[in-house]
Amino acid sequence: MAKEKIEYKITDLPGVGPALASKLEAAGVTDLMGIAVLSPPELSNISGCSEAVARKAIQSARKMLNLGFEDATEYMKKREELLTITSGSRNLDNLLGGRGVETRAITEAYGAFGSGKTQLAHCLAVNVQLPKERGGAEGKAVWIDTEGTFRPERVKQIAEAKGLDPSKAMKNIFVARAFNSDHQMLLVSKVADMIKEGETIKVLIIDSLTAHFRAEFSGRGMLADRQQKINKHLHELMRLAEQYGIAIYVTNQVMANPALLFGDPTTAIGGHIVGHASTYRIYLRKGRKDSRVAKLIDSPNLPESECVFFIDKGGLIDLEVAAEE
Ligand code: ADP
Ligand code: MG
Repeated sequence: MAKEKIEYKITDLPGVGPALASKLEAAGVTDLMGIAVLSPPELSNISGCSEAVARKAIQSARKMLNLGFEDATEYMKKREELLTITSGSRNLDNLLGGRGVETRAITEAYGAFGSGKTQLAHCLAVNVQLPKERGGAEGKAVWIDTEGTFRPERVKQIAEAKGLDPSKAMKNIFVARAFNSDHQMLLVSKVADMIKEGETIKVLIIDSLTAHFRAEFSGRGMLADRQQKINKHLHELMRLAEQYGIAIYVTNQVMANPALLFGDPTTAIGGHIVGHASTYRIYLRKGRKDSRVAKLIDSPNLPESECVFFIDKGGLIDLEVAAEE
């Protein structure tokens, strides 16, 4: 698990000194990836440097990060090497591509109260600690809790069911309560620091991603501001996922959409913006006989489909018999 990559700082880029770096930092650009994804006019705009300097810095950042084209076999190989985290349910893992929640991706679960979003979060926080052969990523979890629904008792139960030492399992989960959306975003930036300091964090859970944003930007006229802020938050999350190879699992509430006459009359808060940034998006609902139904919504590489699982004392499980009915 040694770090094989050299970590460059933005001040390693040509033309980027401490003064420019602090301007960039103030604008939220703190690493090479942040620069690599900009265009020269954008970078020049934020930092005040010339476009020529900006172009050079961007090119260097892309080179240092090894961004560019690669052939499809290389790409495939990289995907096969991605770490994944089992949900505990084979059905749900299969729905998500075979091995559960992926690192370097955001998985969003949305659904009504009681649909199992937080239960899945507990399972991921424990299962991430499992050895790779057992569907884990041999890492730790960070849990940003906005609703006060993290339950150490559940961690204990699930850990026991998986044969892990419950007290060790709890030590490997860092929990913080976010008091508002700014605090939530600040906590995300702290996760990067923790990883840099050597914590082997492999999953970041935000439960719920949207609750604070919804409460703080509740007026109709505030919708655009809310979306913009959620968008920024999601981009930071994507960057974190990419840069440090971690899985990000976020939950999202649903609201009644009176404009919808057919189908399921619920829509995820945050609408399209959240939908597009998430790499995997699942809709959870209660099914027959205490089952839960998960539906995969617009994934880049998987067909839209559904599966059934159950919530058990030891986490998520499959019960073939009951699912048949
Ligand atoms: P939400 O989508 O609102 O986050 P939760 O993930 O909290 O929903 O799911 C809550 C449901 O999980 C409960 O209604 C219950 O059915 C189920 N559940 C919670 N704990 C257990 C347990 N120990 N054993 C079985 N089912 C449980
Ligand atoms: Mg919940």
